[in-house]
Amino acid sequence: MPGYQAPLRDMQFVLHELLGVTDALSGLPAHAGLDEATINQVLEEGGKFAADIVFPLNHPGDREGCHYDATTRSVTAPQGFRQAYQQYIAAGWPSLACDPDYGGQGLPVVLNNSLYEMLNSANQAWTMYPGLSHGAYECLHAHGSPEQKQRYLPRLVSGEWTGTMCLTEPHCGTDLGLLRTRAEPQADGSYRLTGSKIFISAGEHDLSANIIHLVLARLPDAPPGTRGVSLFVVPKFLPDARGDAGERNAIYCGAIEHKMGIHGNATCQMTLEAATGWLIGEPHRGLNAMFVMMNAARLGVGMQSLGLTEVAYQNALAYARDRQQGRSLSGPAAPSQPADPIIVHPDVRRMLLTARAYAEGGRAFTSYVALMIDRELNHPDEAVRREAADEVALLTPIVKAFLTDNAWIATSEALQVFGGHGYIAEWGMEQYVRDARINMIYEGTNTIQSLDLLGRKVLMDNGEKLRRFGEKIKVFVMQNMSDASMAEFVGPLAELGEKLSKLTGEIGVKAVADRDAVGAAAVPYLRVAGHLVFAYFFARMAKIALASEHSGDDFYQAKLGVARFYFARLLPETAMLIRQARAGVDSLNVPGLAQ
Ligand SMILES: Cc1cc2nc3c(=O)[nH]c(=O)nc-3n(C[C@H](O)[C@H](O)[C@H](O)COP(=O)(O)OP(=O)(O)OC[C@H]3O[C@@H](n4cnc5c(N)ncnc54)[C@H](O)[C@@H]3O)c2cc1C
Repeated sequence: MPGYQAPLRDMQFVLHELLGVTDALSGLPAHAGLDEATINQVLEEGGKFAADIVFPLNHPGDREGCHYDATTRSVTAPQGFRQAYQQYIAAGWPSLACDPDYGGQGLPVVLNNSLYEMLNSANQAWTMYPGLSHGAYECLHAHGSPEQKQRYLPRLVSGEWTGTMCLTEPHCGTDLGLLRTRAEPQADGSYRLTGSKIFISAGEHDLSANIIHLVLARLPDAPPGTRGVSLFVVPKFLPDARGDAGERNAIYCGAIEHKMGIHGNATCQMTLEAATGWLIGEPHRGLNAMFVMMNAARLGVGMQSLGLTEVAYQNALAYARDRQQGRSLSGPAAPSQPADPIIVHPDVRRMLLTARAYAEGGRAFTSYVALMIDRELNHPDEAVRREAADEVALLTPIVKAFLTDNAWIATSEALQVFGGHGYIAEWGMEQYVRDARINMIYEGTNTIQSLDLLGRKVLMDNGEKLRRFGEKIKVFVMQNMSDASMAEFVGPLAELGEKLSKLTGEIGVKAVADRDAVGAAAVPYLRVAGHLVFAYFFARMAKIALASEHSGDDFYQAKLGVARFYFARLLPETAMLIRQARAGVDSLNVPGLAQ
């Protein structure tokens, strides 16, 4: 059976030494007083909750799955999920980063982010129940009417009610302009919604007293396509006069999907049978409002993958230290034993370090983005808020696609460390691979993230956001280029920055003549951009490790070692990716393929 321990030391390194969060937050009035000790205490308690309460349910939850009762159209989550959720809300975790006006604790996003890494390491399927609720909270907080906020936010903040996002329909996934669910206005200002949604995570379950569905649908006068999509709040139980869950609304789960992974999370087919709902925000501007939730969810999916990468690494490391097979090529490492532990074999260490580098790089990167979100939300200067928002917009598709691709690689390498035992269910490693796979698909497939990055975030603003982020890298390079101990990091970082700029220009020129040039280059392009970001953070972490007065300590030595591994073994992938991104569209036009 696998194990899990929250990586508190590395989280503290990232938050305090790399990002200096208390200083950074001190400029934000909402978080000015937050000190290091409080942050560490929250991390520690969150780590205990994840490891002691949620983690033990992961493997059994995967085996048991969710249960659907066709007579009552109800869903029961695996054994223990409901109790763990009750403990979660009793301890106040859902409210951590929520607005105090609605009962939240007002702590920063960057701290909530770390909590979510730990919860996802412990149990991705379980964590999706509160995770989606947090997305619904953010959407209603940003776009709900004052009355909707009063009605729903306190219950979502306390965790008493959970949330969903209902976008997908059988014929309509990526292209939401095709959706058909209809909303008819009523005399009392409400709407009647009719239609079918599929693949709705946490659409029905027994964890909470009510489920608040955020549903995309069309009004009768809606123009075709994405410009005719509106957003509605459709509660499972209509709030009564006191605001409690009252009459049952006509939104039902018709079935749950049987799927590859995240078995403990109910993926529901939902039918709306003239269900009562209320419009959120402006008519026909639903996608705009839903983007708040989708962006939160995209970062959330990155955190799911970071969590899986970390837990898979931890278990593969423990196994590799213990499992004895063969002898070290450079002479026995454990002569008194019949064989050496497999960690003596260079390729086993390569697999382990691949997962570890993706975890440590991902932790640094996502914590940075979360801190930028805090700045976007709370900085007193509007220009700073806008700049932070631009950077978050640029980096969000990279978090989503790069981290989820990395987790697929990392969990697979971690499984491989176990040899045949990795393929056997009781070791738990194959579950991590299965669970990791969905993260590349939902919340916009990784292809769509890549198109968003290259097409919208980079080319459509003439590379301005990318250039501004690149400036940060250039400043770091300039500051460190004369330091001989940093040359091994700064040189390749500067070189990759230049290559990415050049590549961006080349694709931009090709795209003028043929828009398919963007589609043909986007996926390798995003991966190159992801590596640039990781190289930047690994170089910064290496600098801290080299400069620390404790640089001889194991932690800093290992940090430096992982950074060197990353530059030597993972970053070179960019040479191949750049060639792929340059290959253009012609090689994808094979005669007869599209017929
Ligand atoms: C377990 C699970 C949970 C989910 N949870 C939710 C949820 O809570 N709420 C919700 O609303 N949905 C949810 N989804 C749906 C999910 O978001 C969609 O499956 C996803 O967006 C892709 O849509 P699709 O499956 O229809 O694939 P399609 O849109 O049919 O795409 C098929 C393939 O074509 C590619 N493609 C499509 N369009 C383009 C394009 N323009 N350019 C290039 N390539 C393209 C895609 O990248 C993909 O590889 C969930 C799905 C699963 C499996």
